Amino acid sequence: MMDAEKKVVDGGGEYKMDLRLLDKDSKKTKMSFLLKKTSVAYANTLRRIIVNRVPVLAVETLEIKKNNSALYDEQVAHSIGLIPLVTDQKTYNMKRECKCGGKGCAMCELKMTLRVKGPKTVYSSDIKSTDPKVKPAYDKIPIVKLLKGQEINLVAIAEMSEAKEHAKWSPGLVYYKYKPEIKISKKGESCEKCADVCPVDVFDFKGKLKINKDNYFKCHLCNACVDESDGEVKVDYDKESFIFYMESWGQLDCKKMVVTGIERFNKILDTFNTQVKEIK
Ligand SMILES: [Zn+2]
Repeated sequence: MMDAEKKVVDGGGEYKMDLRLLDKDSKKTKMSFLLKKTSVAYANTLRRIIVNRVPVLAVETLEIKKNNSALYDEQVAHSIGLIPLVTDQKTYNMKRECKCGGKGCAMCELKMTLRVKGPKTVYSSDIKSTDPKVKPAYDKIPIVKLLKGQEINLVAIAEMSEAKEHAKWSPGLVYYKYKPEIKISKKGESCEKCADVCPVDVFDFKGKLKINKDNYFKCHLCNACVDESDGEVKVDYDKESFIFYMESWGQLDCKKMVVTGIERFNKILDTFNTQVKEIK
């Protein structure tokens, strides 16, 4: 390992990773942050771990007692499986890591029921959970439309697992891009067209071309301004800085997604470390 990389891993010295929150919504389901002094390898590892390895709850098994709706049992089961459930990480374990040894217990499984009679549109809010802390993240996800005389009666069992197993356990979306570096030379200040062509309004032109600080990070390096400017506007990117964008599907808030992702990664590395040490 090179010295520079080592310093990043240690989290110390001049290569200390630096995180700055850029934006988040009031419900914490969307967030963006700037991660500086790191490499694409670390950025992508963080993204993949959050997307694939953060455990959340989703329905895995169903017992359908009655379904005379227009949809097949499999279609109803698939829809219910994809409904994001608000996840209480403190109470529930991953089933295969649970003390019960994967048999299923109150620490790794949760029972939910759905009993509805038509005529009615069945929504996620009709699902009744046996744990008040765990419920569908959104109330108005449609499941099926029942006509008069039609009925659905089922018991669903939710489990904690990761998106590596199935997309229904995905906690959300994460992507990143390089941090843009935009420079305008004295001559470039007269380029009104540079402001006009930018699809994300990075520039303001009021007699003079200026960068609009609110939109600076929106630049996606399309170079449309550079093409208009005759070389006076330069757009580059910082190879050690990344802007992350996250969106939660509702099971966990964005901060919890990041924190849990890092915890999971540490756990994976600990296991790997133990295995390496056992090599004789
Ligand atoms: Zn268990």
